[in-house]
Amino acid sequence: MVTAWKCLINGQWVDSRSGRTLPVWNPATEEQIGTVPECGPEDLDEAVKAARAALDGPWGKMSAADRGRLIHKAGELLYQRLDDIAKLETANQGKPIFESSKIDVPWSANCYQYFAGWATKITGDTIGISPGSFNYTLKEPVGIVGAIVPWNFPVLLATWKLAPALAAGCAVILKPASQTPVTALKLGEIFTDAGFPPGTVQVITGPGAKTGMAMATHPGIDKISFTGSTATGVELMKACATTLKKITLELGGKSPNIVFADADLDSAARGAASGIFYNKGEVCAAGSRLFVQEKAHDDLVARLLDRTGKLLQGDPTDPKVRVGPQVSREQQESILRYIGSGKEQGAKCVAGGEKNAVNGKGFFVKPTVFTEVRPEMKIAQEEIFGPVLSVMRFKEPEEVVRLANDTCYGLASAVWTSDVKKAHRTARALKAGTVWVNTYGIFDPAVPFGGYKMSGFGRDLGRECLEGYLNTKSVWVDLS
Ligand code: ADP
Repeated sequence: MVTAWKCLINGQWVDSRSGRTLPVWNPATEEQIGTVPECGPEDLDEAVKAARAALDGPWGKMSAADRGRLIHKAGELLYQRLDDIAKLETANQGKPIFESSKIDVPWSANCYQYFAGWATKITGDTIGISPGSFNYTLKEPVGIVGAIVPWNFPVLLATWKLAPALAAGCAVILKPASQTPVTALKLGEIFTDAGFPPGTVQVITGPGAKTGMAMATHPGIDKISFTGSTATGVELMKACATTLKKITLELGGKSPNIVFADADLDSAARGAASGIFYNKGEVCAAGSRLFVQEKAHDDLVARLLDRTGKLLQGDPTDPKVRVGPQVSREQQESILRYIGSGKEQGAKCVAGGEKNAVNGKGFFVKPTVFTEVRPEMKIAQEEIFGPVLSVMRFKEPEEVVRLANDTCYGLASAVWTSDVKKAHRTARALKAGTVWVNTYGIFDPAVPFGGYKMSGFGRDLGRECLEGYLNTKSVWVDLS
């Protein structure tokens, strides 16, 4: 069945003014499941007007307690609709239903609950300067936020933008990736049903270069909050410069996962596998470079291969499946090119290394492990965004810190060791926004997440991310 989805602008479900649409696919079956409107600048203009009216009207005038209550309600509705939304996420993104129903959707619901609580806790300071004057600061919403999100975690990453922006009192225009637009529209339904005033949350769909770029250059939008590739982040930042829009960027990574010989190797192997094969490697924080201390190398690789061999790849709607198809044919082809380059440059492919299919269909890539990778190889330097792990050896802690930091990225990292001092020393030395110790890939709405270096700036989640959606106003009072 092909569904003609509509966008949410000013509380109405509408087609694009041009009437143009984009196809929406299921990457496991290669079937078209629907269409979404291809929104252009004229649709965006209308959304910006409605967002401004919401900010100047009911949304801007609402008490923080009522704002929190609505965000809480959105989280509740998402939880109630978990099954349907998880199924749709899997149908459009290809991620196993196990992940969408156990992680993506419930974690998103939790995120709304967490930020609902913040709505009433945003405060400024009182600054007593001198007997003759004092100052206080007001924290005000930045205004209209353009949230541009990628296709790897459609509901979750939209939520990471929406929940704090709404807690801060902003209006949000959300643009999902053109590959995975449908669950963002379901979120739009939730906000409408929860009772948010029209214009507070709007969802427009369309290609990044057109719809996303129109958001970055629109003078009525105050801030862009972006998650996606580093290349697009650079483009967006340039585009935002013309109107000096605020921007936060959560970009790519090539995250090091470091296993010392004194680690619990079974846990480390589990973390290495989940770090790269979770969501078929379509994870900005994927542990794509595995550094193993020489003495433990062969043992760890053997345990890792054992786990890799047991991962069930196939129909993502099957609850037993752990590895689904890549999001699109382009993505599958790009990953296969990286696999080819790894082979050509002399790395040893010890698992996977080729595409896969279910009944001849689907953009699958087999979970792939390369050993004997050298740091200068393409597969050790570039973000592949697929289930491809590069394993490298090291001898000394100083050496592995140097190798781990030898990348333009700095999003995440992990250290596996039973030595507490070594764990914390390494955590300090790594240039990355997140360091996991003896674990991989855990998140919480209370914990800030974001990058060093070309992995971006600004933070999602935690108290810290609220700052990105607030302006600080200093008010001076003369007492003399
Ligand atoms: P990926 O490489 O993961 O496909 P992108 O960074 O290209 O990710 O896409 C992430 C989001 O940014 C998507 O919503 C996409 O539509 C949007 N996007 C892509 N290119 C641009 C652009 N030039 N300007 C604005 N948004 C863009």
